Amino acid sequence: HAPGHFRALLEMSRFHGDKVFLTYEDEHITYEEHFRRAATLARRLVEDYGVVKGDRVAIAMRNYPEWVVAFSATLAAGAVAVPLNAWWTAQELEFGLSDSGAKVLIADGERAARLGGLAQSLIVARGEAPEGARSFEDVLGAVEADVTLPTVELSPEDPATIFYTSGTTGRPKGALGSHRNLGQSPMTVAYGLLRSVVRAGKDPAESAGQRRVTLLTVPLFHVTGCFAVMTTTMFTGGGLVLMYKWDAGRALELIEREKVTTFSGVPTNVWQLLSHPGLDKHDISSLNSLGYGGAPAPPKLLERITELLPSRSPSNGYGMTETTALTINNGGVDYLAKPDSIGLPMPVVEVKIADPLGDELPAGEVGELCLRGPNVILGYWNRPEATAETFIGGWLHTGDLARVDEEGFVFIVDRAKDMVIRGGENVYCAEVEAALFEHPAVDDVAVIGIPHDELGEEVGAVVRLAAPASAEELQAFLRERIAAFKIPVRFWVRETELPRNPGGKILKTHLRKEVLGS
Ligand code: ATP
Ligand code: MG
Repeated sequence: HAPGHFRALLEMSRFHGDKVFLTYEDEHITYEEHFRRAATLARRLVEDYGVVKGDRVAIAMRNYPEWVVAFSATLAAGAVAVPLNAWWTAQELEFGLSDSGAKVLIADGERAARLGGLAQSLIVARGEAPEGARSFEDVLGAVEADVTLPTVELSPEDPATIFYTSGTTGRPKGALGSHRNLGQSPMTVAYGLLRSVVRAGKDPAESAGQRRVTLLTVPLFHVTGCFAVMTTTMFTGGGLVLMYKWDAGRALELIEREKVTTFSGVPTNVWQLLSHPGLDKHDISSLNSLGYGGAPAPPKLLERITELLPSRSPSNGYGMTETTALTINNGGVDYLAKPDSIGLPMPVVEVKIADPLGDELPAGEVGELCLRGPNVILGYWNRPEATAETFIGGWLHTGDLARVDEEGFVFIVDRAKDMVIRGGENVYCAEVEAALFEHPAVDDVAVIGIPHDELGEEVGAVVRLAAPASAEELQAFLRERIAAFKIPVRFWVRETELPRNPGGKILKTHLRKEVLGS
């Protein structure tokens, strides 16, 4: 009887006993306590709610410890966890619930109130349970010390999770992940960390015995938070410090108070941490590594890290919802040598750069990044057409344009859907953005296509400035770096931060509407 990977991970994590697993504000939850709560909830889901293998249980919460309990319990019961985006509106949440066909929803008070009446059974953590719903603590009841997981037979290919993609290129798709997918994830992350240490010429034995305490700055409802950080922490017996919401000042306080060793998030989080006026007012000497990914990281970010936090090992990870988080990683000395690369593929994945027909291109050429391996999900939930378009002959077509150099390092050139096509000439937004970022006055930038009668599209840029700079000055600066046809003809200066989703990606459709009205 294969126990299924997540149950094995949960049972294994119990060996860490009274070590603290989750920290939230003043609450500290040990591995033993977490196991008991998760096992108890798993039993309640089966016994009180009739949850059987394959049923979907949705989770809609902020990063509370109950999120991790709900996730663990759902998987341990053999059901499929459906983390919903806590930023979603009522309508979007309803889409997630009906699309996944969730039988039970475990939500926090805020999300429960947002939703109103529901077809699903509702369990409410941290807040008022509306009529007909039960509170999380009431469902758990007395947590017994000798509780065991409910019996269920699972195989590694059985579905475990449905995570929704970020919706950067359209309506979010439910990515159906298996127990095998999530089982390989902590090993992949651990491999990436170890590889950075070894390639830096350091002794891996030195860091092996150190307890890692990670500050989670991104939501658990995306794969970065859940897999690259949460399940990996469980696997290594480390501590995970949760935040209600991202706040750079609060992050500095928590790093100091909890002696955080690892900061993990999206590039924007790191940028904001380094720009915070409180940076040198806190003792953050415990911090030894800074990991980020999930969205393009400007090379300027690495420069700032080297300047302000020189001894911390930075790493940039590439991953997708469809690849169960981390897939390609650039860390330590490699990253310093090739700051614009996303690094080397993890050992579990094969990389292919393909032409539009799916045939492999020679090294150095730009084509679609395709991936294959045990981290690639089963397909999209309820979307046979999207599945057939994206998963071809065992290869996941990422929609990202990339090239690979002679040493095997991967460089993301742009998202296939984020190009501006100017008079038949491709302009990669990412390239123009990177060039603009080099200008000292530019704090943030998004390059967009402006409709143009003759050319089809022209290049435009929305910038946030740290110091005054005119459009002419920025254009002159770019002229020394990129070809004339790539230089934005129009600039918009935004006074406030550029809109981003919780994955750190700029909401270009939103920006386009704002500046162009369409
Ligand atoms: P949707 O698929 O719904 O349009 P999405 O692709 O933004 O949304 P995610 O799965 O969260 O949803 O993001 C994966 C994408 O994020 C990748 O395809 C890539 O474009 C981008 N990405 C992830 N990591 C990196 C990185 N380190 N550098 C550059 N881009 C990255
Ligand atoms: Mg995508």
